[in-house]
Amino acid sequence: MRRLLVFFRDQLNRSAPIFEDTDLEQDVCVLTEHTAPDTTEHVQKRVYVVAAQRYFRDALRNQGFTVRYEACTESVEQVGPLAQLTRTLREHTPESVHATEPGTLAQRRSLKQVCHEAGVPLTLHDDTHFLCDHDTFADWVEGRKSPTLEYFYREQRRAYNCLLTDDGSPVGGNWNYDKDNRASFGADGPGLLPDPPSYLDDPYVQEALADVKQAYPDAPGRLTEPFPWPVTPEQAQEALDRFIEERLPTFGTHQDAMWTGRPWLSHSQLSPALNLKLLDPRDAVSAAEAAYHNDQAPLNAVEGFIRQILGWREFIRGLYWHRADDWSAMNELDATEPLPEFYWTGDTHMACLHDALTQVVDHAYGHHIQRLMITGLFGLLYGINPHELNDWHEAFYIDAWPWVSVPNMLGMSQYADGGYVGTKPYTASGKYISRMSNYCAGCRYDPGKATGDDACPFTTLYWDFLDRHEDTLSGNRRMNFQLANLRRKEDAERSAIAERASQLRSLVHNENL
Ligand code: SF4
Repeated sequence: MRRLLVFFRDQLNRSAPIFEDTDLEQDVCVLTEHTAPDTTEHVQKRVYVVAAQRYFRDALRNQGFTVRYEACTESVEQVGPLAQLTRTLREHTPESVHATEPGTLAQRRSLKQVCHEAGVPLTLHDDTHFLCDHDTFADWVEGRKSPTLEYFYREQRRAYNCLLTDDGSPVGGNWNYDKDNRASFGADGPGLLPDPPSYLDDPYVQEALADVKQAYPDAPGRLTEPFPWPVTPEQAQEALDRFIEERLPTFGTHQDAMWTGRPWLSHSQLSPALNLKLLDPRDAVSAAEAAYHNDQAPLNAVEGFIRQILGWREFIRGLYWHRADDWSAMNELDATEPLPEFYWTGDTHMACLHDALTQVVDHAYGHHIQRLMITGLFGLLYGINPHELNDWHEAFYIDAWPWVSVPNMLGMSQYADGGYVGTKPYTASGKYISRMSNYCAGCRYDPGKATGDDACPFTTLYWDFLDRHEDTLSGNRRMNFQLANLRRKEDAERSAIAERASQLRSLVHNENL
């Protein structure tokens, strides 16, 4: 054996640099469907990844590679990609091990350690799937106390000559059309949209479903139709084409809006394919830009979609690696409440959380505002341990991998980083949810009330959060307005809110909120 090529399960890029200078006669590929021991993962996420891995395995074999592949039903002495590598290195002595740089710090360290202990040199190849390499990001972020997406995003637009006029200024005159993208649906709701594509009938999805049920009978979540997750690059291209044609034109204006029982709306559902590297982000950005130039979609929709991929996705990944050693200790607000049981079931009287969480149980998916302003917001206001919340997010969302989940959850959503990813905590009361959705119309609680038995828990906990963290947040001028409103309240009202918040905690502990 000359080279041993190692593939982690989110590295299914068929044109990665790891394939350069390979020798089909002498090189061997290894990958496993087994996850590291004690991994909890949504059944739909497991099915998705296993099906995509099997297509990747077939592609390697069709190319002529020898592939050592472990199915999740196969019994092995120790499970996980690093255990598989250790076993392989015990049986064989390749001249070198090659891998694309793993997406997590823990994987990177373990990979180096396994190779070091086996005395085999390791070559890590750049992950060229991403649109900003480590050195470029490090140069940009160096010396910035609080890196800002907007400026990073403009650099990315320039670097990729994306949505620019001939003189280098942004198409339409503005870099960002977010202000046009915050509308609610109003009383009429979102209207009819085409169903997303479903890949449930794909033979490898069906095969993976049977095997995952056998191998992980206790996996949380359900597999509910549709299964809009492409498992091959060809399917991912088809899903992209359909998004551009069917959803992108209406993606922009209502991208922050929510509606009961409507999980997909105009969102793309492409992030799982992007994060398994089945879909190249360059293709997604180019297709959206072309749709604008061909008058297929308005600028606010196209710019908003491109900002998510060319801007936010790369920004978050850059921040993950820039602070890679620090995240595990972050808990700025000393949040210690355990994750409520209803996060795993959706079984709560709060209509917004019930809808958002039941949707995750059914589909392993929520759009960005459901994550930030429903499931994440409750965690922040209630004081759930941010690391528990992140573990849940990584386990339950089909597109969540550590490099993207950690900075999003610990940073943007939970402010555990003290204001590194975002400049202030994303706080809001039930009134925001009422404005952006129809959830409150079907809820036993009143979003306008902070005290009393029918007070909205979000509204109570919003004021309670400001009260509990007043000292910490008072140095942040972006919180001045909210803190000034808090200080206008009489002591008696503040006490009543604190008392109701305490009752809410008892209700959560008794699983009756
Ligand atoms: Fe959610 Fe409060 Fe509205 Fe109920 S009233 S749906 S708990 S925001």
